[in-house]
Amino acid sequence: MRGSRQPNRRRVRQRTQELRGAIDGMDYLASGTLHTRTKVCGRKNCRCADDPDARHGPYHEWTRRQHGRLVHSVITTEQAQLIARAIANYREVKTLLVLWECETAAEILSRPPAPKGG
Ligand SMILES: [Zn+2]
Repeated sequence: MRGSRQPNRRRVRQRTQELRGAIDGMDYLASGTLHTRTKVCGRKNCRCADDPDARHGPYHEWTRRQHGRLVHSVITTEQAQLIARAIANYREVKTLLVLWECETAAEILSRPPAPKGG
């Protein structure tokens, strides 16, 4: 039967159900890196000059590639929390895609070759 020589999509679907479920549960997805820092303003009389705990900030900066160019955005603390989650999701999706790719390759390569001729 011709159908039996097709890759078993249903089996791959079953094996990757968990992976797809994990991706389905995600909302935000972002690449790049997030940096949080505090700053010294440089004014002589400001407490930040002597006290590390009095430094200004925190300031959050999100850096990522967009159309091949590096883009920096200064973002709020609330945005930084969302971006941090989105970056974690992105890394998780990349890991899941590698697993999915492995399942696909294992399934397709395990198929016996079709008989020649016919
Ligand atoms: Zn200062």
